[in-house]
Amino acid sequence: MSVNVVFDSVLKDTTKHLCHEYWAYASPNDYIAHLKRLCYDHNMKIDELFTTLAKCQAYLDDIHCGYCGRPYQLDVPADIPYARRLNSWFCEGCISFSGGQLIVDR
Ligand SMILES: [Zn+2]
Repeated sequence: MSVNVVFDSVLKDTTKHLCHEYWAYASPNDYIAHLKRLCYDHNMKIDELFTTLAKCQAYLDDIHCGYCGRPYQLDVPADIPYARRLNSWFCEGCISFSGGQLIVDR
């Protein structure tokens, strides 16, 4: 599996490292413990952690929209096992463009 993390270019290396650590975790079972650990290791509060994470975006580079080819954008690590179970996926832009027809065709 490969998660592609895209950063805001002004981010420091320590911040990039934090984002990589966050996205390296794919199991939803103890997500909260994972967050607490990151806060502890990087000496930040949970709201700072989320502010930092919002500066990077993660994509699955092996799952693409079946219509436009855009990579699957992840919101939380728990999306990873979910996305892997899909046979096909269409991005929100294509679904709304097609008036929902892309979902029906799945
Ligand atoms: Zn698309």
